[in-house]
Amino acid sequence: MLRQALLVASRSGGARKVVETAPFTGDLVRRFIAGETIDDAARVTSDLTSDGLLVSLDVLGEDTHDKGHAEANVQNYVELLERLGAAGLGARAEVSLKLSAVGQTFGEDLALENARRVCVAASSAGTTVTLDMEEHTTVDSTLRIVHELRREYPDVGAVVQSYLRRAEEHCAELAYEGSRVRLCKGAYAAPAPIAFTDKEDIDKSYVRCMKVLMAGKGYPMLATHDPRLIDIAGALSVLDERDANTFEYQMLYGVRPQEQRRLAAHGAQVRVYVAYGREWYQYVMRRLAERPGNLRFFMRALVGR
Ligand code: FAD
Repeated sequence: MLRQALLVASRSGGARKVVETAPFTGDLVRRFIAGETIDDAARVTSDLTSDGLLVSLDVLGEDTHDKGHAEANVQNYVELLERLGAAGLGARAEVSLKLSAVGQTFGEDLALENARRVCVAASSAGTTVTLDMEEHTTVDSTLRIVHELRREYPDVGAVVQSYLRRAEEHCAELAYEGSRVRLCKGAYAAPAPIAFTDKEDIDKSYVRCMKVLMAGKGYPMLATHDPRLIDIAGALSVLDERDANTFEYQMLYGVRPQEQRRLAAHGAQVRVYVAYGREWYQYVMRRLAERPGNLRFFMRALVGR
């Protein structure tokens, strides 16, 4: 119930205006976001990579209904990628891109064109792009764009959300040689005919998807903080005789940082998803929806106590 309310609030323009203009001082926001600037992102990336972790950077700003804003988002990504390339971080840090940030609302052609520009910049920086998966209404369009981009950039990452009833089918289609696939549970609200809504069913679907990806020929990117699922991933890697460099774990910046380092210390590849920028409202609201217990800290930060 609270999760649904937080996800609805994440899409409310009014709430966003009030909250986003509050000073960027809340501990909770600072916990999940690297900072507001490209310098903050570069600093956090450098710290994480020095600790043996990989990074995927997300420039905040999504669900844009303004073409100028979409263009600014593309420019921000290009600038970030130039910075990563110049710092020689391309081998350890990639970017995650939301198509809603670069014009998907205006149609698939604009989103594809803009995503391609980000792929060009990533390729020059010696790194890759993963297309985040968003609302269920955009899944087919996003997968079409992944397939189109992969003609020129085969290393473009796709995302499957295990809460979708079609998730296993998507995994089977995507588990081919060279295909980078992030598996996550899904962070948006989706109706019952399309998505599992019960946590147990979402987790079971995650396991089925993981089995398909780990047994397949692609490169699974297992995005979860769930200890049970991480254990099952480890068992599957043994069963499927996968070397540690043929798949990776992914977690969010600010969530289970010790576990990230523990897995890396045991030889696993671990990528941390790092978001930065001023437009943090929707991102942080989804983090609250995942763990409503965080809400208390957030409200305290908002009212300045
Ligand atoms: P949960 O069952 O939610 O959590 C398991 C445990 O992890 C919890 O008990 C808690 O200890 C810890 N935990 C989880 N979330 C939090 C939190 N916010 N704060 C504190 N502790 C927490 N979703 C999409 O829809 N599209 C995407 O493209 C996408 N990309 C992602 C990329 C990465 C690298 C990660 C890690 C997640 C991504 N997600 C994406 C979000 C994902 O779908 C889930 O909403 C999120 O990861 C929480 O699910 P969980 O697997 O960690 O399991």
